[in-house]
Amino acid sequence: MLMSSYKKTAVSVASAACVCLLLLLLVAVQHHRAQVGDAPAAGGDAGARSLLQDAARGGERTKKGFSAYFTKLTRGRREVERPAGSPATGTDPPPAEDISAEDIFIAVKTTKKFHQSRLSLLLDTWISRNMQQTYIFTDGEDVELKKKIGSHAINTNCSAAHSRQALSCKMAVEYDKFIESGKKWFCHVDDDNYVNVRTLVKHLSQYPHTQDMYIGKPSLDRPIEATERLGDNKMKPVNFWFATGGAGFCVSRGLALKMSPWASGGHFMNTAEKIRLPDDCTVGYIIESVLGVPLTRSNLFHSHLENLQQVSRSEIHKQITLSYGMFENKSNIINFKGAFPVEEDPSRFRSVHCLLHPDTPWCPPQVAF
Ligand code: UDP
Ligand code: MN
Repeated sequence: MLMSSYKKTAVSVASAACVCLLLLLLVAVQHHRAQVGDAPAAGGDAGARSLLQDAARGGERTKKGFSAYFTKLTRGRREVERPAGSPATGTDPPPAEDISAEDIFIAVKTTKKFHQSRLSLLLDTWISRNMQQTYIFTDGEDVELKKKIGSHAINTNCSAAHSRQALSCKMAVEYDKFIESGKKWFCHVDDDNYVNVRTLVKHLSQYPHTQDMYIGKPSLDRPIEATERLGDNKMKPVNFWFATGGAGFCVSRGLALKMSPWASGGHFMNTAEKIRLPDDCTVGYIIESVLGVPLTRSNLFHSHLENLQQVSRSEIHKQITLSYGMFENKSNIINFKGAFPVEEDPSRFRSVHCLLHPDTPWCPPQVAF
């Protein structure tokens, strides 16, 4: 009687072990097949993703713990493998914070002479969908602009010149208005930027807004070398990275609050004077040099200082900002066959907008471009 019960137990333990082994084998074979069949599209990430999917599939039927373990493992690997600030491809890491567009303060820097030629294009496209979180910083009154965006059109009363001082004057007002707004993220763009707010929200939600975050893209391949003017006629060389304003950049509220002694009220202008550099460099100086917080690079921000032809059509929807401009007398624009020909849409922003939001009334009915 006792013997047969031992036997039974032994048999059931052995068969359970067999089932486990078989399952392990199955997962291993599937994993191998997936890795061989799936050419990794983005470094090691695709391999990691297929492993995650296979483990999850096996786990659905049998072992929750097993798939959870793989999930943890692959997430960890993805974090390690992705170069700092490089775009997350495919599956994004889980959000650190559940933010929405309303949590972002988007400052657009412009000047009266560009209200017609540049700003109206933005108001027709991306701003039209994001009126609540977009603020226009300009240097002159415009009744038409006020009609469109109301109190979000802010006359800084700064000079309309393209001087270092005038640009810093606008950035100072942007900063103060952001602090006043109570929003979680400050993002600055120029009036020749298209902002894909959906991807911006997704990107920023990777980081808690209370953490020190400065996100953007440098236009130089090395830190800028500047001279800090100390009080008593002394100079001090300083080196730091800065995110180019023409590509747009974002600063978390946690970090923005720490910038206050160098950025709030009239302090920003004084700080800019101390290093004699433009507004975006001054932001970099305060963050990297004074506060010691490094810039987090992102390739999803684009200025017209880079070759915009390198943004491929299939990648457009993943970008956070785009731009357009002239380089050596040739237009530097993203190259794709969109809803409108280049003659009708020289910046390509209308075509980009129709690609991202085909339900827009003025977009032609959806066809394969
Ligand atoms: N800008 C300005 N005042 C000026 C000229 C330009 O505020 O007198 C703004 C302009 O609206 C834009 C930014 O500065 O948002 C950069 O200007 P632009 O694109 O003409 O020059 P870039 O620095 O990109 O070559
Ligand atoms: Mn520009």
